Amino acid sequence: MRPAAAEEGNVTERDDVDVLIVGAGFAGLYMLHRARSAGFRAVVLETGDGVGGTWYWNRYPGARCDVESIEYSYQFDDDLQQEWTWSERFAAQPEILAYLEHVADRFDLRRDITFGTRVGRLAWDGGAQRWTVGADDGVARTARFVVLATGSLSSVNLPDLPGLDTFAGPVLHTGRWPHEPVDLAGRRVGVVGTGSSGIQSIPVIAAEAAHLTVFQRTAAYTVPAANRPVDPDEAAALKAEYPAIRAAAAQRIFGFGARQPMSEVPALSVDDDERRRVFEERWADAGLQFLGAFADILADRDANAAAAGFVRGKIAAIVEDPEVAARLMPDTLIGCKRLCADSGYYETFNRDDVELVDVSAVPISGVDATGVQVGERHIDLDVLVCATGFDAMTGALSKIAVAGRDGRTLADAWSAGPGTYLGLGVAGFPNLFLVNGPGSPSVLSNMVVSIEHHVGWITECLEHLRTTGRATIEAEPGAQAAWVEYVGAVASFTLFPSCNSWYLGANVPGKPRVFLPLVGFPPYVEQCTDVAADGYRGFVTA
Ligand code: NAP
Repeated sequence: MRPAAAEEGNVTERDDVDVLIVGAGFAGLYMLHRARSAGFRAVVLETGDGVGGTWYWNRYPGARCDVESIEYSYQFDDDLQQEWTWSERFAAQPEILAYLEHVADRFDLRRDITFGTRVGRLAWDGGAQRWTVGADDGVARTARFVVLATGSLSSVNLPDLPGLDTFAGPVLHTGRWPHEPVDLAGRRVGVVGTGSSGIQSIPVIAAEAAHLTVFQRTAAYTVPAANRPVDPDEAAALKAEYPAIRAAAAQRIFGFGARQPMSEVPALSVDDDERRRVFEERWADAGLQFLGAFADILADRDANAAAAGFVRGKIAAIVEDPEVAARLMPDTLIGCKRLCADSGYYETFNRDDVELVDVSAVPISGVDATGVQVGERHIDLDVLVCATGFDAMTGALSKIAVAGRDGRTLADAWSAGPGTYLGLGVAGFPNLFLVNGPGSPSVLSNMVVSIEHHVGWITECLEHLRTTGRATIEAEPGAQAAWVEYVGAVASFTLFPSCNSWYLGANVPGKPRVFLPLVGFPPYVEQCTDVAADGYRGFVTA
């Protein structure tokens, strides 16, 4: 097979490395640090012009994390933990990006990162037992191992709205927000989409714009983030507790929520007053851990209905216009699509300068230079914001033309849905590792905790291959098939597969419907550890 790099043209130099990492977000940065510390020659290629991944691209107003900062941060280096002080309970995007820039500097990572460079092709050369890497910077690279740290929510979905390209004003996607400030003052802004990104940005945009129109296709459940500043005393106390916080988080089903564990009590085992008391308590301060108010909210329809009913009651109490309140009330299971956490979302619809337009029955039929058409109505806009989400978990991977053993492409291997072993390796693709790949807890966990776990596992695997004099490692097809079945079986014990969520690929037309993440972080870690201890059971090494 012709080396991929040669196909990119303009080859000016060569580079042959041990480990090539794609992406410089949380995953790629830590992978570089670990690979380098283990004595491998490693480099990162990154499309963006800076580090940060998700936090480099998602600069929309109101962008912040909904996992507590003290958990949504690296734990591999205690000095790093102690020297960095988070200013808010849930950090906003600029602070998380500043943290990742600090990490890149502190561990001197930038010297091995090439920015502004997209990897377009990867081809396995069975003779050389190396990957040939095609990137757009004109360097011909080969690598013994490739780690795809390309992010789970990084490939954006622009809505397929007729005439979108004719709109005279800016069309902005939340996941590709401009780096220069966007002045919305005095403007009529439209936001399409009411998932996490829309729900975070809508209150902030409403406060700045002259008028905001929210186009809602499906109402989403959201709970108060209960964000607040962290004062110096609280920060010092939290830092002193880091080991306990990290240890507790590792035992939580989703790898976070150290300070608010999931209840072990079934929702319907208590009376109405007690259930309401517990929900009120969680609503006030738990953020996403609202779903942990009772043990069975994500597993039992009646328990779920109780939680959903409580949130609908809150919407009715907060939103003054009963018709608007009714439109904001989801009629689906709560938590089945990812729960959102907000700061003043429902309250925003009490403003005179905000309108909610339901596009579920009558969708947006088109866009022209001056605005958006919905049924008979033309809505004049100056700026259109698409908070329309991502081709989750597989989107970024499918943008790279990956050719494995015998030239078989990843697109072909995954045509009926992504098959992986442990979410880490793919049969037919030797020496290729995924970080937070489909079939691992990934988006159903604290991404940073999962990243540290995956990177640690991959690094130890590379060290094992070196020590045992093996050149290649590859998932066995049988082990992979069993793993895919296991991921589906675990999901079937929950309510997650019962709605059209991006967890199932349902938001992307034509994408195979497969439940992508694995539910349950602690048992997953245990299984990965067992596989390694058992000589990398389910992988072939040679
Ligand atoms: P999302 O959850 O997929 O939401 C996309 C929204 O756009 C949905 O309301 C969807 O409606 C709507 N939409 C898509 N195409 C449309 C069209 N043609 N017309 C009208 N509406 C359309 O995307 P997201 O909000 O970017 O969030 C994705 C994930 O990123 C989250 O679930 C979360 O995991 C992560 N995230 C996390 C944070 C955080 O930590 N706080 C913040 C942002 C994002 P339908 O539901 O009808 O398809």
